[in-house]
Amino acid sequence: MLVQATIRLNVPPSRELIDTMVEFSKATQFAYNYAVKNKIRSWKILHQKTYRKIRAFSKLPSQLSCKAIKYALETKKGCRNRKVNFSKELSIRYDHRSYSFDFSGICSLSTIYGRIRQTLYVPEYYLRTYRNWEIRSATLSKSGKHLSLNITVTRNVDVAAHTSNNKVIGIDLGINNLATTSEKQFFKGVKDKLANFQRLKSRLQSKGTASARRHLKKLSGRQTRFMRSINHEISKLIVSRANAGDIIVLEDLYGIRDKSKGRALNRLISNWAFYQLKNFIEYKTLRKGAIFISIPSHHSSKTCSRCNETYTKRPKNAGFFKCLNCGYSCNADLNASLNLRGRTNVLRNVLGLLVNQPIVAEDYISLAASPCF
Ligand SMILES: [Zn+2]
Repeated sequence: MLVQATIRLNVPPSRELIDTMVEFSKATQFAYNYAVKNKIRSWKILHQKTYRKIRAFSKLPSQLSCKAIKYALETKKGCRNRKVNFSKELSIRYDHRSYSFDFSGICSLSTIYGRIRQTLYVPEYYLRTYRNWEIRSATLSKSGKHLSLNITVTRNVDVAAHTSNNKVIGIDLGINNLATTSEKQFFKGVKDKLANFQRLKSRLQSKGTASARRHLKKLSGRQTRFMRSINHEISKLIVSRANAGDIIVLEDLYGIRDKSKGRALNRLISNWAFYQLKNFIEYKTLRKGAIFISIPSHHSSKTCSRCNETYTKRPKNAGFFKCLNCGYSCNADLNASLNLRGRTNVLRNVLGLLVNQPIVAEDYISLAASPCF
């Protein structure tokens, strides 16, 4: 299975690069506007119609002009013909014909002044982890005064076949505990910290001055980085328990919205944070040669993980699940994660499955609908 990761390197800003970014954005804007106006969907047609014009008015080299047209069409698909101003966020897409990079840090980028060579600092961690990965396309982007090169790297991972010796780890996501695993790992929520961010945010919003808006922007950047680092930390610790061939099973995220519905907390941890956590867990799992599954979480918090009794309302008691049928009692989130783990066991047993590829949720749904489940 092809696993993909992105490494982000700082690039010293230079006039050559910034001028090229400006030209790239002009070319993209031209191609985008043309595609929207003439309702063009095919890259071939857009290329035929705009390539010569772009080469005529901009100084972009041929490969970058092609990339700009491709990027314009990709954006059009994503933005559904809305107005887009490409000069707001400058970036350039590079592929193997317009840039090169190796892990000694030597990087060569195509610009309107010809190729420039730079030696970039490559952090130790990237060297350790990605040295043998294949280098694919890259995006140079500008944020404030800083330039960064985001390089996509890929590797073929042999996902080991799952055998009865392998274990399954279930993960429940939530607000009080951001994540709870069937390995009895608990990752506490960060309510207080997020509530602080929220308070500060609403104060700044009500002010509404230019300076308040500036601070607001800074603040939201800080919050994003805070959640990102927490998500990295949690996913790392969870996946560190898994070996090749193990299964990590996560609830799909439709459940999260219900869990937090109607609560003020809903705002605090927005869905993107959970999606990010899920993505981090997924790619780290695959990187290890383990198997990642996401399944519906129906009743996972209302079912007893020991006797399978399902309640219409969770018999709960201060974060504890207490089963009225068999008397089993344990932490409510842990109980949910054990249920997720148990469902995968059923999946394995019923199908006699030695999983060697990710199971899509549909498989599970059709299984759940069958009477033997
Ligand atoms: Zn029970």
